[in-house]
Amino acid sequence: MERNQHAYRNIDLCTKDCLCLFVCPVGASDTENGQIDFEKCIGCGACSKACPSHAITMVPNKMPPQQKKDQAIINELFKISDNKIEEIKILKHLLNNSNDDNEKRLLKALIHSNKVIIEDLMRESGYMLPQSRNTNKLLKKLLNIDNGTNKEIIQKLLKVLEVND
Ligand code: SF4
Ligand code: SF4
Repeated sequence: MERNQHAYRNIDLCTKDCLCLFVCPVGASDTENGQIDFEKCIGCGACSKACPSHAITMVPNKMPPQQKKDQAIINELFKISDNKIEEIKILKHLLNNSNDDNEKRLLKALIHSNKVIIEDLMRESGYMLPQSRNTNKLLKKLLNIDNGTNKEIIQKLLKVLEVND
């Protein structure tokens, strides 16, 4: 069978009830490190359907084309993102000057939620998508500044992440 997708397990969601282990026809979901064995996985999707915790996602091997976005929309998304960065700076300042534990917890939660919003905005702007030209450019830049530690991984990513926009 030609594989056009493979299974990916979110370990944080996995409740280890092992249904995926019973349905997998090739034993790819039973691994020492908790991840799916990509070499063995044939992409049938049985584990994803069986998992009661929605911990397994089927990921396409070839990413679909990036959604086209008007430059005016991207500019607005960047503006919102810049505002969120400013908010984080203010929240961090308040956090550093707070002596109240409950207030600190709230401020930390707000910082985290702002970071998540920025991540979503960047994704919506076409950044952080594995198949985007922006990601490709970033990886090439990283390759040039890397001191050798991650060179092999970056080269592998550049090879498998086909630009599709
Ligand atoms: S079926 Fe889902 S929750 Fe159960 S072990 Fe597999 S991935 Fe984890
Ligand atoms: S997609 Fe199919 S082959 Fe791959 S891990 Fe899940 S059940 Fe096994």
